[in-house]
Amino acid sequence: MRYRRLGTSGLQVSELSLGSWLTFGKQIGDPIAEKLMKTAYDGGINFFDNAEIYSRGESERVMGKILKKMKWPRDTWTVSSKVFFGAGGKLPTQVGLHRKHVVEGCNDALKRLQVEYLDLFFCHRPDKNTPIEETVWTMHQLIMSGKILYWGTSEWSAQEIMEAHMVAKQHHLIGPVMEQPQYNMFHRTKVEVEYDQLYKTVGLGTTIWSPLASGILSGKHTLDGHKSSRLRMAGLDWLRERELTAERLKKVEKLKAIAAKLNMPMPVLALAWCLKNPHVSTVILGASKEAQLKENFLAADAQDQLTPEVMARIAKVLDNEPMRPQF
Ligand code: NDP
Repeated sequence: MRYRRLGTSGLQVSELSLGSWLTFGKQIGDPIAEKLMKTAYDGGINFFDNAEIYSRGESERVMGKILKKMKWPRDTWTVSSKVFFGAGGKLPTQVGLHRKHVVEGCNDALKRLQVEYLDLFFCHRPDKNTPIEETVWTMHQLIMSGKILYWGTSEWSAQEIMEAHMVAKQHHLIGPVMEQPQYNMFHRTKVEVEYDQLYKTVGLGTTIWSPLASGILSGKHTLDGHKSSRLRMAGLDWLRERELTAERLKKVEKLKAIAAKLNMPMPVLALAWCLKNPHVSTVILGASKEAQLKENFLAADAQDQLTPEVMARIAKVLDNEPMRPQF
């Protein structure tokens, strides 16, 4: 496993990490979740991603039990939570980025995960109803009180992230260190263009999500979705409709041919492609089976096979180079 600095912070995260959205406490049983975490940790993964909203708190409960059972030294792994959507309650006091919910969300995550502090704490979405000053102050105070170590954002615009930094600078507070955006072969603009200046100006790190576009880039899906996958799960029609299109599947077929020439499984090609971007600090893997996770580990070495010539062939198939501003 190789490690990358989380932006310009001193924290080094494994370039592959493990997330729990839709899997822990939902799609998979706890014994499989335990196997996944053990395989991840034994393979050198040092970052586990979570959020209050995942299975309405259940994902954190499952992860917390496993972390406690494994008894891995606390200084060998990092864990995150995210605040904004709440853990099920929808009252105005139970969601958002105001001081009350951020503090209560943090305390609840600590209890569910059974840890004394969160290494990373994300604002899961921007909150138009809370002044940015209130959120920045609250995050700073959580760091000062030892409950969190680093804070960041998820799916914020570059302007919103910059605003948080300006507030932090003005009041000598600790600003956001990392952002958690979606990034994969089909979804590129935010990471490749919108945040471009932030890597230089504020040293933004990124913990990217859905690197396989919910599994589509694994190459196993047809237009109906593979039968034992999340895209066939009840209540996830919105995800299938958003992610699974004929145009995407056509591209995946062409990408599979490139992967085959390199003697590489398709998911490995797609994950290695994400790792080629130096602004990606860690690729958060999702997996519903241990075999998937083990296969996905191959991406770390596979990135060396993605030469400029191979990257150009992939770019031609994708045909979705994001537009850059012309000066
Ligand atoms: P992916 O896009 O990589 O999708 C993971 C899913 O793809 C797996 O659960 C599995 O689903 C399938 N898959 C993975 N590997 C393979 C393989 N080798 N062969 C075949 N199928 C495979 O990632 P996620 O969407 O799960 O996102 C990763 C993490 O990012 C989440 O767990 C979460 O921690 C974070 N996240 C953050 C968000 C945010 O707003 N900040 C939003 C979403 C995710 P199946 O077996 O069901 O087919």
